[in-house]
Amino acid sequence: MVSNTEKINLPVLQNWDCHVCGTCCKEYLVRLSDDEVEKIKSQNWDVNQDLGGYQPFRKTGLLRNKINLNHRPDGSCVFLGENNLCKIHGKFGLDAKPLPCQVFPYVLIPTGKEWSVGVRYACPSAAKNLGNSVLKQRDLIVDFKDKLIEREKFTITLAENKVKPMLSCSQETSWEIIFALRNKLSELVRNGKHDVAHSLRCCIALSNELKSTNLSKLDINQVIEFLDIFGKVSTSEVPVDAFAVPSPNWVGRVLFRQISALFTRKDHGPNRGIANKGRIALLKAAIQFAKGAGKVPKLNVWISDTTFEDIESRRCELDEESNELLRRYYLVKIESLQFFGASNFGIPFWEGLNILLLTFPIIIWTSLAQSSQDSMVDKIQRAISLVDDHFGFNKILGGLRQRYGFNILAQRNETEKLIAWYSRPCI
Ligand code: SF4
Repeated sequence: MVSNTEKINLPVLQNWDCHVCGTCCKEYLVRLSDDEVEKIKSQNWDVNQDLGGYQPFRKTGLLRNKINLNHRPDGSCVFLGENNLCKIHGKFGLDAKPLPCQVFPYVLIPTGKEWSVGVRYACPSAAKNLGNSVLKQRDLIVDFKDKLIEREKFTITLAENKVKPMLSCSQETSWEIIFALRNKLSELVRNGKHDVAHSLRCCIALSNELKSTNLSKLDINQVIEFLDIFGKVSTSEVPVDAFAVPSPNWVGRVLFRQISALFTRKDHGPNRGIANKGRIALLKAAIQFAKGAGKVPKLNVWISDTTFEDIESRRCELDEESNELLRRYYLVKIESLQFFGASNFGIPFWEGLNILLLTFPIIIWTSLAQSSQDSMVDKIQRAISLVDDHFGFNKILGGLRQRYGFNILAQRNETEKLIAWYSRPCI
């Protein structure tokens, strides 16, 4: 049995408390374990008096064998009460809720014999950094981890450390090397002397150097030394001026728009876009995004009346607050290792890192698509929440077709070009 004392790495920069906005209870389907179904049944909810006439559960899946919490037609969970308060929590306390409801927005990631804790910026309070330091919630998070081990029966796999991390599809490595890479990437983002986009381009430069190196042949001290040297050499060659990086080519732009469409879609809840108009509307939107001309389809409620041409003509010079928000977002993702392996559809390290870095131009593009009346930091925060809602959770993004697209962008240096393009200041 894995003990309570095993190391757990918390995101030191992050604050969070629930501010009862109800977003998670309106947007997500909560899958239940058999025990959770029984627990809710034993709470004896009255369908008419307590749940407005809706059944508590909904079956999903091809075989109708998966049980979720039921939702009302407006997308909200049937247990969501007045003032966005959960009825289960109100009547029976936190422990009585299904585990996914308790854990959100934390993501618990098994990293060898340790655990890392990521945070989903899909939660607006997490994106805004509201509440107490996550460090103060250590005991609660350790409790979640133990419950998760029990619910998902992780014990044997973790204790024996059978799951080896992968650097690429063909290169297995050790957790020690993964931690050394994480520390170096985090250092590049944390200590960057220029804007966050430059720090992310430094991460790409380092990863380009290291992808062809077999780190597993070195001992851990040699790896750390190697990373120090290569970190300095590769990043010293990264131009500070975003105009010095070539513009993305048409392949990069087409793939980028298609990927952006997936990352900015809202298909559930009150902020959903044209998904409520059916599949034909979504198909037309996909064609429009591939063309990249004319009106931008409203894939979520925040996309304003704008055109693809209009967005490309605008520039987003990040103010200090927006820059620091983005820096915190990437630090939390990198330090928690929430971009590869178990928490990102089993995708290997380098591939997962490329997808994470690609979210930067998507976030900027999405903020440029919003109404110009809102403040920059509000638009960036909303864009991060939209994009992070999909990151590591939208199964389409973990599919072979999309991964092929991400890899083309990485191999042709289009990820770097897109980051530079969307961080170019006005001239
Ligand atoms: S059970 Fe409670 S916390 Fe979970 S989704 Fe429903 S209302 Fe929200």
